Amino acid sequence: MAEETIFSKIIRREIPSDIVWQDELVTAFRDISPQAPTHILIVPNLLIPTLNDVSEAHEQALGRMLTVAAKLAAQEGIAEDGYRVIMNCNRHGGQEVYHIHLHLLGGRMLGPMLTHKG
Ligand code: AMP
Repeated sequence: MAEETIFSKIIRREIPSDIVWQDELVTAFRDISPQAPTHILIVPNLLIPTLNDVSEAHEQALGRMLTVAAKLAAQEGIAEDGYRVIMNCNRHGGQEVYHIHLHLLGGRMLGPMLTHKG
């Protein structure tokens, strides 16, 4: 059994968070440490620790994460100028919270995709 993270508590509304979307499959809330004017995290309600753990059984939730990302981008007024969605996986990917999440970032020029070389 994977260990729950703080995101499960946010999904169950046990701790305060700025939730901008919730349905039967996914929850979206504003990142506590925003890297851009819009920085929203979109997570499956079911705990999946990393992208390595996904299976066909998760495809409905994974697809919903993308349709909600597009919906929220429109709602935030950043769809036309553009935005970026990112999912980090494990240590090299820079993953900090082991409950998969899509970062939706926008509202300014985001610059090159990777900032660290090596
Ligand atoms: P990652 O490095 O891809 O695992 O991203 C984890 C993200 O979760 C970071 O951008 C954090 O700022 C964000 N985060 C951590 N705790 C919270 C929280 N309680 N509410 C909202 N965002 C959070």
